[in-house]
Amino acid sequence: MSDFTYSLDADGVATITWDVKSKSMNVLNLEAAADLGALIDRAIADDGVKGVILTSGKKDFAGGMDLNIIAKMKESAGDDPARGLFDGIMGFHRLERKIELMGRDLKTGKGGKPIVAALPGTALGIGLEIPLSCHRIIAADNPKARIGFPEILVGIFPGAGGTTRLVRKLGPMGASPFLLEGKLSDPKAARAAGIVDEVVAPEQLLARAKEWVLGARPEEMVKPWDAKGYKMPGGAPYHPAGFMTFVGASALVNGKTQGVYPAAKALLSAVYEGALVPFDTAIRIEARWFTHVLMNPSSAAMIRSLFISKEALEKGANRPGAPDQRVKRLGVLGAGMMGAGIAHVAASAGIDVVLIDATQEAADRGKAHSEALLDKGVKRGKVTAEGKAEVLTRITPTTDYAALAGCDLVVEAVFEDMKVKAGVTARAGAVLADGAIFATNTSTLPISDLAKAAKRPGQFIGIHFFSPVDKMMLVEIIRGRETGDLAVAKALDFVRQLRKTPIVVNDARFFYANRCIIPYVNEGLRMVAEGVAPALIENAAKLTGLPLGPLQLIDETSIDLGVKIARATRAAMGEDYPDGAVDAVLFAMADRGRLGRKANAGFYAYDASGSRIGLWDGLASAWPVAAGQPDLHDVQHRLLFVQVLEAVRALEEGVLTDIREGDVGAILGWGFCPWSGGPFGWLDILGAGRAVELCDGLERAHGARFRAPKLLREMAAKGESFYGRFGAQARAA
Ligand code: NAD
Repeated sequence: MSDFTYSLDADGVATITWDVKSKSMNVLNLEAAADLGALIDRAIADDGVKGVILTSGKKDFAGGMDLNIIAKMKESAGDDPARGLFDGIMGFHRLERKIELMGRDLKTGKGGKPIVAALPGTALGIGLEIPLSCHRIIAADNPKARIGFPEILVGIFPGAGGTTRLVRKLGPMGASPFLLEGKLSDPKAARAAGIVDEVVAPEQLLARAKEWVLGARPEEMVKPWDAKGYKMPGGAPYHPAGFMTFVGASALVNGKTQGVYPAAKALLSAVYEGALVPFDTAIRIEARWFTHVLMNPSSAAMIRSLFISKEALEKGANRPGAPDQRVKRLGVLGAGMMGAGIAHVAASAGIDVVLIDATQEAADRGKAHSEALLDKGVKRGKVTAEGKAEVLTRITPTTDYAALAGCDLVVEAVFEDMKVKAGVTARAGAVLADGAIFATNTSTLPISDLAKAAKRPGQFIGIHFFSPVDKMMLVEIIRGRETGDLAVAKALDFVRQLRKTPIVVNDARFFYANRCIIPYVNEGLRMVAEGVAPALIENAAKLTGLPLGPLQLIDETSIDLGVKIARATRAAMGEDYPDGAVDAVLFAMADRGRLGRKANAGFYAYDASGSRIGLWDGLASAWPVAAGQPDLHDVQHRLLFVQVLEAVRALEEGVLTDIREGDVGAILGWGFCPWSGGPFGWLDILGAGRAVELCDGLERAHGARFRAPKLLREMAAKGESFYGRFGAQARAA
């Protein structure tokens, strides 16, 4: 059965309705695109058809392209995948050009029928590219709808005509937030930006579309770029105004992406080169740049991690079989920074929360945190006054543990202290019902040890949120030695309610995310001790696509926290502790009271308002910069390998059980180079053989922490990749 159906009414208006029966959201695949083309031909050929409405049978129009298409197109041309991609993309372009002309002869201007896209809701990616080729876009006034091009966020760009058409419709400046930042708008905002032509009440959508089709004037069936004398809004590149736009955009893109995201640069090239030539040539240029991006392994890795794997994890790829465990009433112990954040996101997701702290004032402060966040939302128009009130009524701040009685999940976020945590765990355990699950938000204490204070260790689990809770999308779920499946299912269902992304790992020192981040920060500190210029360290990190250099990161998380973790690690490891050189820098900073951003003084200097103004100039006298500086690549490799080798060790040791979780967790948890698709994605791009070679060099120069793990060596010897070796599970999901 086709995804598109066709009907013709008595007034000669044909309606083509998109409805992919097997899915809740329409996505386009190759067969459906061919079907749509055939229906357009039919409408053009039928003299009884005056015009066409293209709409959807669902509440939304379409979510985009079925991303499997890309692999299919690549495979279609045997050993010339780029040819397969280019030809496939040109196929989409021909379809859209057919829709755009609807039988009109470009040379004589004769013929043609009106076609309107009637969007009931969300229209993303190809789901907006096709409407942009229609003569008019009418959207239903549905504030939940999202209209735009999110492609850039997964490492590609709108390459099936969207880039060329949007730039010609809005001008390069007007189109840039939608193309370069993946900005999505509701219908009214899309109308204000000029993407959508008209917004009507949902119940009038089809009637208004029909009215437009029947009344369309010939000039309304000609796109501006096909009309005589078309000029690009805001000016083409060599127009004085256009010139300013392109010079600025180029600098902006390079500044923001540091050159590591191929898609943004390719997009800009397609826009610039396309703006200099006629429309049909611009489309071919767009297709070439799109092919170029799709052939880059980075785009495949980004699509895999940021789209396919992320969605699979959110849908419960690693959830044990258990009945629905959604949380009805949540208890939060500790109303500090994390507890208050957890209470806020849970209440915002519709869950009733009991928020407990040692004093009523502290509990109230926790609730006030939620109020402050909601106020911000109200100011920005994201939350209504009623919405705010509703969320706040769900949070009950108290000191009374008896209030936990009806809770089916409790998350503990009190001080990071074994004794304090054991105390609250026992107190809660005395009140909770038999089936309730108890979770800890600890970032450093072993889950299996904390579970000893629990009445039912099988129902004890780690649910590790990141700070700030309302912004960070990753939640690390940690299975202790005795944690049962029901607790895992509960944690996963809770995270799903919060619309965050979970990974499930086994209990080991620092779990997964912190295990990888701490060595990254430490490597930066080690380099400071060695006399590597701090600016080189920080810029090398940024040029790799890491969001924060290691010195900025420790300033943000605070140097005293680093000291605390170092002391605890040293105590746990004894003689084997390998980070003396790191501590020398860390402790010296702490002794000087330079504790990071919170002290307005750290590796960076800050002005009175707390803004970072540059690296602290005292660093040079404390740790003089060596006369000979390392090569940029050497610094980059050190910073990357200390992280990815930890990820590989975590997999070897069974802390990670699914490489998708390792990749998605790294990108969402600490912003690990999204262009790489994550640590395993990066090692696959590099190849295990090359990775081992680099590790050997780093080990010789810098020590055993860079020794290639056995698994990586074995993979290099066998010529394996991570997704080749461990991907079966990922593919099966
Ligand atoms: P915090 O100091 O801001 O808050 C702790 C709260 O617990 C305080 O309000 C305190 O009054 C309360 N508390 C202490 N003892 C209590 C008791 N016996 N009964 C009830 N309340 C009690 O700390 P935080 O930063 O929110 O961290 C809390 C937990 O979350 C820690 O385990 C920490 O390791 C973990 N964590 C922190 C971060 C982070 O970035 N801060 C990130 C992830 C996890």
